[in-house]
Amino acid sequence: MKVCFATSECVPYAKTGGLADVSASLSRALARLGCKVKIFHPLYRSLNPKDHHLTFAEELKNLTVFIAGKPVRFNVWYKKEPGLALETYFIDCPMYFAREAIYTDDTDEDERFIFFQDAIIRVLQQLVWTPDIMHCNDWQTALLPVYLKLKYSWDRLFASTRSLLTLHNLEYQGKFSPQTIGKAGLPMEHYYPTGPFEFYGSFSFLKAGILFADLLNTVSETYAREIQTPEYGAGLDGVLRTRKDDLYGILNGIDTVAWNPRSDTLIPYRYGIKTLKFKAQNTASLRARAGLPGDGGAPLIGIVARLVHQKGFDLLPPIWSQLMELPAQWVVLGTGDREFEDFFRRAARRHPQKVAAIIEFNNELAHLITAGSDLFLMPSKYEPCGLNQMYSLNYGTVPVVRKTGGLADTVIDIDENPAKGNGFVFGDYSPAALMFTLRRALDRFPDKALWRKMMLRGMRADFSWKRSAQQYLELYQKALAK
Ligand code: ADP
Repeated sequence: MKVCFATSECVPYAKTGGLADVSASLSRALARLGCKVKIFHPLYRSLNPKDHHLTFAEELKNLTVFIAGKPVRFNVWYKKEPGLALETYFIDCPMYFAREAIYTDDTDEDERFIFFQDAIIRVLQQLVWTPDIMHCNDWQTALLPVYLKLKYSWDRLFASTRSLLTLHNLEYQGKFSPQTIGKAGLPMEHYYPTGPFEFYGSFSFLKAGILFADLLNTVSETYAREIQTPEYGAGLDGVLRTRKDDLYGILNGIDTVAWNPRSDTLIPYRYGIKTLKFKAQNTASLRARAGLPGDGGAPLIGIVARLVHQKGFDLLPPIWSQLMELPAQWVVLGTGDREFEDFFRRAARRHPQKVAAIIEFNNELAHLITAGSDLFLMPSKYEPCGLNQMYSLNYGTVPVVRKTGGLADTVIDIDENPAKGNGFVFGDYSPAALMFTLRRALDRFPDKALWRKMMLRGMRADFSWKRSAQQYLELYQKALAK
């Protein structure tokens, strides 16, 4: 299976969110399953070819594409992954990519990613390489399915290529003025009220991609269903409903090397199922690090998150005084919206014995909180996949989550399903529902036998990329059968 993996972010080259992790891990896992994978990525200014040991592709020098009717020249760098059929191609065009940031508000933001997608096609043509699957990710590469069906339908090279568009976050839709359609060299005839190129008076890369891709997926099964409702659909729910038979959910995997309590180099005491007693030593280290006193066996509740509305922290202030009466301590790590940062800072000042708030981005501390906490709280309003609940489960840290997206697909409530429960789940997005469930968790905490059972279930769960990559492979096969 030959896969062209088009992405605007990939670790370690560029990252603003989960897409970067998925690009790196999924492509590698696919190559391990026998796929031949070519990743395509822009050469942003922040990405120095020397630092990453990239090779200049002589055979792809000075290629040209036409953007908004003007010729644009570019070069290509590449990197081969030793021992794997995995190559990354970097599209080098300073005019578009030598900017302050990966994404910009510049007036040619549309052109930057139109160019990127045309350049991908141009390189494939030059290499005479027919991908079986064109795997696109989010709005920045969502026009490729449209290109294959309209702009490049003349090219027999792509006659057998099928496309998959993965939706990592529906909030970002690549919305531009209708003139963008012309810049992309696409026919205006598809722009009319409610037509495929029209989205509330604009042109949206994402909407067009959703309508033209052979198959679609998002990063959890529940989120795949949720986005077909007005509450979660960000205006695209109607469009997504028209594609419901082609829309799948595949849970992201986690990096099981970096996030593994048996081998984690960022925590002071490593542990596994047979050495679970060392987890308590991480808890003691975490208390010391966070400046929290021992609390007579009360559990420690951890939070690591971007402090933004999506993550559900507006549920906390209305019940904060009640929460402070509970027998528990809190350690919060995060940055984000001022209102939440200030809320947690204030809470820590008022209750220094109970709450520690560390308002920064700190990967090492994120590991320690994951290992050292007894409970991990994620009350998200929506959560396409979520990683922290999977980390917590594998670290024997019992998650308390809202039943949405990937949280609903990975955490099973112990009272609802005593035979399989690995955490605590609430449905209503309300302070009362959160309060009720936290109380339930704290009531259960003294039952050490039950708690241990929950911990072990989480620690045994397989969230590796291997499993997810296998599901992507099956989806590729479905697309090819279309
Ligand atoms: P999202 O992509 O919506 O932020 P995820 O749960 O998918 O949510 O991934 C969040 C990732 O970012 C996790 O790896 C988490 O540990 C990390 N993270 C978030 N905030 C911080 C922080 N302040 N310090 C360290 N790591 C953080």
